[in-house]
Amino acid sequence: MTNTTDGVGSIESVAHGSYHLVVGDELRAASNGNARATYDPSTGRPIVDVPQATPADVHDAVHWAQRAQPDWYELGVEGRIEQLGRLRDLVSAHQEELSLLDSIDGGHPLRSMCADVASAIWEMDVWPTVARLAGGKTMPASRGNLHYTLLMPYGVVGRILPFNHPAMFAIVGMLPPLLAGNTVVLKPAEQTPLSALRLGELALEVLPPGVVNVVAGGADTGDAIVAHPAVKRIAFTGSEAIGRTVQRRGAEAGVKHITLELGGKNPMIVFPDADLETVVEGAITGMNFGISGQSCNSNSRVLVHENLHDEFVQRLADRLEQIPLGVAYDEHTEMGPLVSEQQYQRVMGYVDSGRQAGAKLVTGGGPPDDPALAGGYYLQPTAFTNVSPDMRIARDEIFGPVVSVFSWDDYEGMVALANGVDLGLTASVWTNDLHIAHKTAERLQAGYVWINGSSRHFWGMPFGGLKNSGLGREASVEELMSYYEIKSVHTMLGDPRAAMDRLTGSEG
Ligand code: NAD
Repeated sequence: MTNTTDGVGSIESVAHGSYHLVVGDELRAASNGNARATYDPSTGRPIVDVPQATPADVHDAVHWAQRAQPDWYELGVEGRIEQLGRLRDLVSAHQEELSLLDSIDGGHPLRSMCADVASAIWEMDVWPTVARLAGGKTMPASRGNLHYTLLMPYGVVGRILPFNHPAMFAIVGMLPPLLAGNTVVLKPAEQTPLSALRLGELALEVLPPGVVNVVAGGADTGDAIVAHPAVKRIAFTGSEAIGRTVQRRGAEAGVKHITLELGGKNPMIVFPDADLETVVEGAITGMNFGISGQSCNSNSRVLVHENLHDEFVQRLADRLEQIPLGVAYDEHTEMGPLVSEQQYQRVMGYVDSGRQAGAKLVTGGGPPDDPALAGGYYLQPTAFTNVSPDMRIARDEIFGPVVSVFSWDDYEGMVALANGVDLGLTASVWTNDLHIAHKTAERLQAGYVWINGSSRHFWGMPFGGLKNSGLGREASVEELMSYYEIKSVHTMLGDPRAAMDRLTGSEG
């Protein structure tokens, strides 16, 4: 196993590191001394204890963020860009460390996490240009007067994150609110807090205290952020269930602007003219098996035309059986474990429910037969056929390496099946017939659609869900704009001749 990289660190160094909440100018323990172990999903062993922020800690973090915000805003966009540029350089210098932390803490393959952090650094270069171009507008609202809009920050933004791309989401999650002149209280997921806490420390080295605060913890910590009256803008990424809770709790606490990036039960639609090899590879890439299918994008429902169905299933099963599972921080690993024992049990619950409901298990369905992986939370890539739309595996987001393959022959029936779930995040369409491809893209109830592709995000194209998959759009100008409130200003200019008379002293 290659688990140590020169100059980067190792499990041992991570375990002996100390991790603190980042609150204002302080790296601190939880105010009540509470800490909880974070686990290495590759082995099932605890790594290190992490402080769990109490509501009092959250209150302090929000207070610091409130105090820091006016000066942060006064810097102007160029001042903020300059300071965030220093953070970019520091993150870049710690790129391998952050990737390794995520790989150890989240069980995500090191290769994927290196790509994640590299992509986040790329975004640190992109966002400033977007922020420079953002502005209000002038309107011809009345003749002879000046009407314009100002973009104003909300103040304190609460950013709550899931476990599947820890460092990347922490970095790209704080950039647009900060560039817009807000300060941030950020909460990583309880399963994967390490990289965000480290990022918070780095931020404190180069940004004024209080601009970035990082509070680790679980539901109580998240709830304290959502319920805090001074947090007017909340950006939540996570499950539909918790997203609904956040909306409800936010509404109880005040009138808040909440964006939600939630789950998906994403259809991949294969037409009879598609090339089989291409779609099998597309299904595998689109399922994000590398991170064990724990991606909101994962095409967990594959709808294959009946002419190709049987051959597709056979080839898919053959390919899935060739994907080697391994310890996440082995640099050769293609697919790691699930993030936690709880997640493993949850996903296995779905596998069992599929079997019991009469779906046919084609491959996978249990842990790999490798004693070296016995302690971790590994689940083989799993595929079902004979799935009916009312089964739980057909309706719910499983968030694991489990794909259901459906056969279709009637176009309208296929569209109804694809749209017949409550979620609507992504979809993909595979055909060389451009007419049918675009028509189908229009019919699908999904916020992000690929034609002859999957999984890849194109920065600048708004990402977000329809239906219960969320509210708002990210990774685009729309995201930056969502961190501003708009103020309209009306200047009554009056008659220029009267003004000239005043200036020349010839009035009266
Ligand atoms: P989750 O909903 O369980 O947790 C997300 C975050 O919410 C965590 O930080 C958690 O501690 C916090 N939280 C829990 N209870 C809370 C409460 N009552 N109030 C406030 N915060 C609370 O999600 P997860 O298991 O970490 O992540 C997986 C989910 O995230 C999947 O549904 C996935 O599709 C979704 N996701 C969506 C996107 C997207 O862009 N649409 C991206 C990644 C993940």
